Amino acid sequence: MRALTEDDIRGAFVNATDEQLQRMPLPGLHETLWDEREFLGWRDPQAAHLGYLVHWDEAEQTPVGIVVRAASGGMRAGIAAMCSFCHSPQPATQVRLFSTPRAGEAGRNGNTIGTYICEDLACSLLIRRAPAHLNPPQQVARRSADLLQRVQNFTADVMRTA
Ligand SMILES: [Zn+2]
Repeated sequence: MRALTEDDIRGAFVNATDEQLQRMPLPGLHETLWDEREFLGWRDPQAAHLGYLVHWDEAEQTPVGIVVRAASGGMRAGIAAMCSFCHSPQPATQVRLFSTPRAGEAGRNGNTIGTYICEDLACSLLIRRAPAHLNPPQQVARRSADLLQRVQNFTADVMRTA
């Protein structure tokens, strides 16, 4: 994804309250390998249920960010689960149900949408993690494109007003 500044990120959120934006911690941007990220996702160390997700929207040429909230209580341990973004099969304890308010008035009225995502919001790391012989570059490229498309579909849904 395109490299973003702190201001870009703070200005990108479509469904955050002013209070959330003011207290939002940012990840270490200077350490971020932007070429290997479909989106930037991070959890809030001060508010364990909150997470943030920002991607670059190529069509609109703008960053789009959403606040997500982890459902309390994880899934039952010992079963397999799948992240809806990266489609990586994972132990259920590493996938969480997150809900996110819709943008605008709908969200302020309590209208949310939910989906299962890797608990650490680090799908970009996960799709690159396997050794190269098991995860050749063409496969990473395909998973990368699919991941970005799913994230974009989700944020488009968050922003849909009707
Ligand atoms: Zn994932």
